[in-house]
Amino acid sequence: MTKTVGILGGGQLGRMLAVAASRLGIKTHIFEPLPDPPAGDTATKIFSASYEDNGALVAFAKSVDVITYEFENIPTKALDALEKIKPVFPQRIALATSQDRLVEKQFLESIGLYVAPYAPVDTLEQLEEALETLGTPCILKTRRFGYDGKGQIRIETPGQAKTAFSALDGQSAVLEKFVRFEREISVIAARSTSGEITCFDPGENVHINGILHTTTVPAALPNHMQTDAVLLAAKILNALDYVGVMGVELFVGKNGLLVNEIAPRVHNSGHWTQNACLIDQFEQHIRAIFGLPLGNGQRHSDAIMTNLIGDDINHLEKHDNFALHLYGKSEVKAGRKMGHIIQLSPKSS
Ligand code: AMP
Repeated sequence: MTKTVGILGGGQLGRMLAVAASRLGIKTHIFEPLPDPPAGDTATKIFSASYEDNGALVAFAKSVDVITYEFENIPTKALDALEKIKPVFPQRIALATSQDRLVEKQFLESIGLYVAPYAPVDTLEQLEEALETLGTPCILKTRRFGYDGKGQIRIETPGQAKTAFSALDGQSAVLEKFVRFEREISVIAARSTSGEITCFDPGENVHINGILHTTTVPAALPNHMQTDAVLLAAKILNALDYVGVMGVELFVGKNGLLVNEIAPRVHNSGHWTQNACLIDQFEQHIRAIFGLPLGNGQRHSDAIMTNLIGDDINHLEKHDNFALHLYGKSEVKAGRKMGHIIQLSPKSS
């Protein structure tokens, strides 16, 4: 009998998950409050309703076999309703951990991993104290609802504490020491319902204004660090008894690897797998949540993935030497992810 995956969120990640599902003979239902979502073009059915609409959530859950999501900020109440009806993967603990930067850091430390020095901030006094302890420069980040560099304020001197604190507008935050990293990398890892784990090769990421610009694979890392990165990612997945694909973002510093953040979903820095691997991150995620054997994620080529942000899609000069992935968004907006390109070259290592 045909299976159906339910995806919360209809953005480009949902769109590409639906394509991967269809290749496996699986139908996709999308739940998305906003009109005309990118995933609407590739899914079988869209439930266009708010996360407060219990009736719509129930109907959605009943219409699918397994539920997953393509963004982290899913209201807890919606999950309560859905979980009663169908399994939701990745499980709640992963979502709760990654939704709150403080909980996430405490979890990572509890399993023996390193993060940038940090302190929780709820009051101006706490911020001033933390700035004294950590030293400047620092980054003040809201604990919740931040993405693509949003909800982050860089603090260069202790004198900027007041302004930075007011900008939080009452939200809880963490202050993080600014890390002088050598490079940023990420590991895209998958774990199945049976506990099997597979990781794609670490990719090296360059951000511009907090938004991912390129991912290059292989990352320029010594072999032992590539191994460390993969083992560290596997440790996180095991500790959460995780099911699905996760993006683990890391800073590479003089003293080794620091975990920046984890994303319990397919990840922009894993898009290169679409053209450089036999099985890409989207297929791997669908396999994992349906309890199918994980695929061989070995890389057959070197790759550079470049995001097309805003107007970039209007300035593509040559089309013949890269794979083009467009998200079908009708309106070009500054800072909006419109698509990406992937360039391949023969495998170097
Ligand atoms: P985030 O939303 O936490 O992933 O931050 C977005 C980007 O900001 C990261 O990928 C880094 O390029 C930069 N960034 C975040 N936190 C730090 C930090 N503590 N030190 C240096 N750069 C950072």
